[in-house]
Amino acid sequence: MKIKKIFFMAVWVTAVVMSAILSGHAAGNKDKILDMTYAYDENTIYWPNASSFKLTVEFRGMTERGYWYAANFYSASEHGGTHADAPLHFAENGRTMDQIPIEEWIGPAVKIDVTSQCVRNRDYLLSVDDVKKWEQKHGRIPAGAWVIMYTGIGTRFYPDRKRVLGTDKTGLAALSELSFPAFSPESAEFLTKERKIKGIAIDTPSIDYGKSQDFQVHRIICGANKLGLENIANLDKLPVKGAMLYVIPMLIKGGTGAPARAFAILP
Ligand SMILES: [Zn+2]
Repeated sequence: MKIKKIFFMAVWVTAVVMSAILSGHAAGNKDKILDMTYAYDENTIYWPNASSFKLTVEFRGMTERGYWYAANFYSASEHGGTHADAPLHFAENGRTMDQIPIEEWIGPAVKIDVTSQCVRNRDYLLSVDDVKKWEQKHGRIPAGAWVIMYTGIGTRFYPDRKRVLGTDKTGLAALSELSFPAFSPESAEFLTKERKIKGIAIDTPSIDYGKSQDFQVHRIICGANKLGLENIANLDKLPVKGAMLYVIPMLIKGGTGAPARAFAILP
């Protein structure tokens, strides 16, 4: 009796697992997940005076004992490539990466398309009006949303530094020549005060535009305890609403930001 029971349990568990796997395939899960991350390599875009991503081989080959072994060493600034910003980045007493619970990094994706404005003006600032126009068409921004500004700059040109940053100079000399669009301080105020968002994201290297000297948008977002995501990839493939954005950053204790694997589950 007991053995029979165990046997039926085993059959039942196998059936449940198999049907979960099969339904996953049938639903075309692969087509439903959109990777929104750039891989890290020597071309990864960093702020001109930050330390770029470096990968060096620690070991690669057959060991003396006859088995294969490969391992690399890497180093980089926190803020480069597809990466998250924690509130501490621009708020003195803000939270660090490890103080943000994982569920806070997941939320409905709201994509505001301003690509045509950014073609005409690469220093374009997203206005409160752009946000309200999106809401008129698609409804109120859902609670806990990631509000994503789709400029088209990073989406089309990443990792071409000249076309993304507006300059291919490096170091401090580049700072005065930066030119790319981003959120306006007014839109950041509106989103943090009038709506309940998780954070804001953009397909450029910064939520503040290239010409910013005082990083007002970072200060507003970080000061409001909200999150940031920069250099998000594949925005052309993300629907304007209905997707769920997952931002899964490296868990750096005390971190002000971190490389993130960003992906969306499409509706
Ligand atoms: Zn950052």
